[in-house]
Amino acid sequence: MSVLVSGANGFIATHIVDNLLEAGYPVIGTVRSATKAEPLVRDFLKKYPAAKLSIEVVEDITAEGAFDGVLQNHHDVKYVLHTASPATLGLDKPLKEAYLDPALAGTLSILKSIKTRAPQVTNVVITSSFAAIYGFNKDYVTYTNEHWSPLEWEQVNNEVLAYCASKKYAEKAAWEFVEQEKPNFKLSTICPPYVFGPQLFDWMAAKKLNTSNELITKVINTPQTTDFLEKPSGIFVDVRDVAKIHKLALEKEASYGTRLFIGSQTFTGQTILNILNKNFPEKKLAVGAPEKDDPNKVLGFNIENVLESIGGYKFISLERSVVDTASQYWQMNS
Ligand code: NDP
Repeated sequence: MSVLVSGANGFIATHIVDNLLEAGYPVIGTVRSATKAEPLVRDFLKKYPAAKLSIEVVEDITAEGAFDGVLQNHHDVKYVLHTASPATLGLDKPLKEAYLDPALAGTLSILKSIKTRAPQVTNVVITSSFAAIYGFNKDYVTYTNEHWSPLEWEQVNNEVLAYCASKKYAEKAAWEFVEQEKPNFKLSTICPPYVFGPQLFDWMAAKKLNTSNELITKVINTPQTTDFLEKPSGIFVDVRDVAKIHKLALEKEASYGTRLFIGSQTFTGQTILNILNKNFPEKKLAVGAPEKDDPNKVLGFNIENVLESIGGYKFISLERSVVDTASQYWQMNS
């Protein structure tokens, strides 16, 4: 029984595919163009010579029935992981077309195809985001998987908000679909906050990085400043943990039907800078205001119920994640 992974060439999805292949699952990955998949297939097969990996091109995930063909070609799909969604800032399109449409219509399109073409599918996991949870509160809030972002599309006036709203609308639509359509499969969603960590294959770090890791490279490349105490800031989780938890969401029955809000620890840009200066003093980066950093005041989160549902979990630390990300970045960009 195989696993279908949409957006298989993405930062997070390549780690997911890696985990699945390592565990022996046959994987079908969808991408927008075959050329994006070629170097990945080559390197995956080098790493796992016996791997069962096939790639299908789905040019436009928003089209009605976009995934019908893929599911018809692969009657053995048991699990679906839907990761494909616009996650990059700087898209040169109107906000709705760039973010909301692909996120929302893409999610509904794959769910409808699974329901009508692949009734044998038992589990669907959608990669949502902490953006679907975060409340933009000025006061300190301890977030849980019961929180929903209050953001409405009408309030959106920039790319960050468009991204946040797209994730909320897509996740809500998925839960509503399941409630109304009562498909055969169980739905879970994964809500990671900022995802840092190395690219699966080193050559991927020589390209433009994903938007979340760019927070780290921005800190690296900014001259002396104290501006990092407030911004960026948030909760972080390492990509290797995000990938493992996608696999656990298929395997741990207690997590079925859950919003898996996950996170390792809170940070500010200064926290990242402090880690970089401690581990790479020779790089002579900005110093900022190390003694003033207080990442705990950013916001709180309580994910005990989620961790219980997957049988407990110990996350990679921010220090290890930042060190691994920065090392790979310098190795591939110097
Ligand atoms: P990437 O940009 O690396 O991967 C996104 C994937 O989605 C790519 O395969 C991309 O294809 C595909 N995609 C993007 N836009 C479209 C579109 N319009 N139509 C079809 N496919 C599209 O990002 P991440 O790996 O970081 O993100 C993966 C998922 O995780 C997303 O759903 C994102 O919202 C979510 N997430 C990410 C976080 C992070 O910090 N990185 C945090 C929380 C959630 P292509 O390469 O062709 O553009």
